[in-house]
Amino acid sequence: MTEANSFDIIIIGTGPAGLTAALYGQRLGLRCVVFGDIPGGNLYMVDNLANFPGFPDGIPGTEWGVKTFQQAQTEGAMFTMGRLESLEQDGNTFFGTDVNGIRYSAPCAIVASGRVPRKLPVTQSEMKGVNFCSVCDGPLFRGKNATLAVVGSDNAAAQHALTLSRIAEKVLVIYRSAQMIMDASHRERLAGQDSIDLMPETEVTGYVGLDLVEALEIVASSGDAETLSVDGVFLAIGWEPNTDMVKMPVETIDGGYLKTDEKLMTSIPGMFAAGDVRDTDLYQVLTGCADGARCALNADRFIKDVHS
Ligand SMILES: Cc1cc2nc3c(=O)[nH]c(=O)nc-3n(C[C@H](O)[C@H](O)[C@H](O)COP(=O)(O)OP(=O)(O)OC[C@H]3O[C@@H](n4cnc5c(N)ncnc54)[C@H](O)[C@@H]3O)c2cc1C
Repeated sequence: MTEANSFDIIIIGTGPAGLTAALYGQRLGLRCVVFGDIPGGNLYMVDNLANFPGFPDGIPGTEWGVKTFQQAQTEGAMFTMGRLESLEQDGNTFFGTDVNGIRYSAPCAIVASGRVPRKLPVTQSEMKGVNFCSVCDGPLFRGKNATLAVVGSDNAAAQHALTLSRIAEKVLVIYRSAQMIMDASHRERLAGQDSIDLMPETEVTGYVGLDLVEALEIVASSGDAETLSVDGVFLAIGWEPNTDMVKMPVETIDGGYLKTDEKLMTSIPGMFAAGDVRDTDLYQVLTGCADGARCALNADRFIKDVHS
């Protein structure tokens, strides 16, 4: 391995958590290498980031992502603009290998790789017409008198339904439970939309179509099965943390989120976790940023304590 590939921190993810870790790490005098291909991470799905302090009119998620990326870059962080294939440890040193087989080393690693929406456990779960982001993919159905299904029963499902109700002729919200679990404001807004139909106690058991979803196979709690014609489906049925690149045994909580201590360190000394990938209680940009900053500070202390 050449000296050029040796850094102080390997950061995985260019979302709010990874970018802030890079910004703080560099300002602490640490040399950070950052892996990831989308500046802003999941913020590309956020039409208008309206709850981040300092932006009273909100800011498009992509704009916030690009600006924060530029800020970390100005501080000197090295962005590979590619994904990390594997993170391993040999002795006290972490080794990261990117998709081109190039290796990087560092005494600390910060996993800030976020999470991805869960898919339905059906055959052909990745069929065309199955979407996860109404803001990004909803406009594809504009002007088509579309019937769209939203699967899920929480705030995310409500947000999808409300966004799609401005585009589609009809939005069907399908969920297994008897009630939707969401904020009162979402509940009120859903109730006020004639174009949204709620379908409680109903399970989607399959997609119908060749390449493209044309209908859903559904089963009601009574056992009655039906095929429902739709033009597209939007899923809001939970998330899975992105931890595949960690090739070492590490403690996780239910759902696979990385378990962290009060310093945001995982069960592997020197490996920290920030943002949506860890066992947090709030999955937001603000908390991701706070985690990233704290991880950088704690990585700095770890390096001083353990490696000097
Ligand atoms: C539709 C939607 C609306 C939202 N609205 C809001 C809102 O209004 N306000 C708010 O505060 N939050 C909102 N959120 C949540 C917010 O986007 C997340 O909490 C935040 O992006 C988490 O930041 P993160 O850095 O932890 O992870 P992410 O933003 O998910 O970034 C992690 C990045 O790491 C990448 N990655 C994964 N594996 C690897 C690998 N092996 N190598 C390199 N990179 C990898 C991922 O592809 C991703 O780009 C919303 C989310 C969604 C989906």
